[in-house]
Amino acid sequence: MKKRGLTKATPTIFFIFGGTGDLNARKLMPALYNLYIEDWLPHQFAIIGMGRTELTDEKFRSDLHKDVDQFSRNGKTEKSKWDAFAQNLYYQTSDVADPKSYKQQAERVAAFNKEWKTEATVINYLAVAPRFFSTISSNLAKQTFSTDPAKTRIVIEKPFGHDYESAKELNSLLGSLFSESQIYRIDHYLGKETVQNILAFRFANSILEPLWNRNYIEHVQISVSEDLGMGDRGGYYDQAGAMRDMIQNHLLQLLCFIAMEPPVSLQADEVRDRKVDVLKAMRKFSSEDIKRSAVRGQYGSGWMEGKEVPGYREENGVSADSNTETFAAIKFFIDNWRWKDVPFYLRTGKRMHKSGSVISIQFKDVPHLIFPDEALDAWQQNRLIISIQPEMSIRLEVQAKRPGLDMMLNPVDLVFDYSGTYKSKAPEAYETLLLEVMMGDQTLFMRGDQVEAAWELLMPILSAWAAKKSLNFPNYPADSWGPELAEALIAKDGFHWFTLPLKNEKK
Ligand code: NAP
Repeated sequence: MKKRGLTKATPTIFFIFGGTGDLNARKLMPALYNLYIEDWLPHQFAIIGMGRTELTDEKFRSDLHKDVDQFSRNGKTEKSKWDAFAQNLYYQTSDVADPKSYKQQAERVAAFNKEWKTEATVINYLAVAPRFFSTISSNLAKQTFSTDPAKTRIVIEKPFGHDYESAKELNSLLGSLFSESQIYRIDHYLGKETVQNILAFRFANSILEPLWNRNYIEHVQISVSEDLGMGDRGGYYDQAGAMRDMIQNHLLQLLCFIAMEPPVSLQADEVRDRKVDVLKAMRKFSSEDIKRSAVRGQYGSGWMEGKEVPGYREENGVSADSNTETFAAIKFFIDNWRWKDVPFYLRTGKRMHKSGSVISIQFKDVPHLIFPDEALDAWQQNRLIISIQPEMSIRLEVQAKRPGLDMMLNPVDLVFDYSGTYKSKAPEAYETLLLEVMMGDQTLFMRGDQVEAAWELLMPILSAWAAKKSLNFPNYPADSWGPELAEALIAKDGFHWFTLPLKNEKK
């Protein structure tokens, strides 16, 4: 993360398991192409897609050309640039269970190394279903791609485990085959520009640190809402749910960035140690806490933008009496000196009124009010709002005097808005992450102990919810902000959920 722009990655060979899949089409290949046109890829590189489908190199290239045209943030490709990039794309028909395919990989690597007169970095990207992770990694470990083990890397997509036990098992298998420095566990939230900016904002500005603690901060909210339903992901989602799909990874990662102690440097393990410290300090849930502090929901049918949409249980791939939560709101505490008794409310859901990822940090009220009641109609305690997507901004809400002859206070925003400040488009998370893998920097990837700590924290809630079916599902309609109980969860502490106003909506 620190070295970019100073050095370029050394020659690299990417093997993409799942080369014919959706993730490669929509995210990985557009990201690699954008890295190429912005001159971040090394001069010598090869990308080899893998899958059972029979494809020639030519067909693989032309399929991906269409995908990149459709999904790249830069729009349609330029012919000359695409042609130059596509010369480095290859396809290998292979089944993950076939040992021959791994030998073939090693032969390809040897051939490239010979041609390039070097020893390339070999990145194995596992963009396949998690049930294949152990087969692929065990087979890969039998091959020698490089004399320097650090030059062989394995990238594991989410979800990493289904629960604490399975995550531990996968970590232990990977640990027996590779060193931790070779393993890159993806949480694509960590690649988002706005998420990385939390580090810059917190640790490059001296004014924040004195306020960043229980003495000044009243509570924190982290909310990731999606207006979409299941699409074709129902089969996967019904086995996962909001806690596994969102809270265990993305939302807890955001919480760690907000709550971590200042790291000594940006070294990967230094940053990751500080994040694990947060997870370790989080208060464990007793069964009483779960009743008080955790709310689950599942959406019913409704209307969104004038169109009728089905309830969760009517979605493709979802069981008709599913107990899977499509919404979760949890109150956490971090038992350390900085955060003791400051509630962190996390909320995520599908088919919500509006999509957006927002962190709201509410500061304590002023100790003594000198203004008369008439001046305080629109009183709002100071709030720092970090908007991750779709709007990318940081705003500090402060009180100011409204113009006029009388003394009336009004909240106004001090705003840093990416689109207003910078002309260039922010890179996609996958561009950042793929570049970091090439550069061998693990700061933005989850370490094994971090993943386990997050699972361990959530297991009591997951187990309680699995053991006791919810009797009131579906309990929120599409196009809402989730179940009423989620409002009650925060309202009983005297707060309410923060939502960014729509462009045409008044605050
Ligand atoms: P997908 O579209 O279903 O693609 C699955 C890929 O696996 C295909 O390329 C398929 O190729 C290959 N495959 C299946 N069985 C195989 C076998 N026996 N041997 C070799 N290849 C095999 O899935 P996806 O959406 O790309 O997701 C891939 C992974 O990324 C999953 O772990 C998912 O959870 C994760 N992920 C996806 C997204 C996303 O936006 N799609 C986002 C986050 C995480 P063939 O059919 O040609 O064999």
